Amino acid sequence: MKGGEFGFACPCCGEPNELFIDPEERGQVVVMDCRVCCRPIEIALPLNPDEAPDVRPEDQ
Ligand SMILES: [Zn+2]
Repeated sequence: MKGGEFGFACPCCGEPNELFIDPEERGQVVVMDCRVCCRPIEIALPLNPDEAPDVRPEDQ
């Protein structure tokens, strides 16, 4: 992962979503709403660009 588009399945409804990753957000947790079910999703962006971001529902 070098920044740019990160595609993932929503942990709530399983629908595909995309997040544009700003390299300056590495090491942070960003929250976005699923474009289908509108539930908040937390995405933990690893500092290491070779690691996959951790995706989880915000309420867990
Ligand atoms: Zn969803």
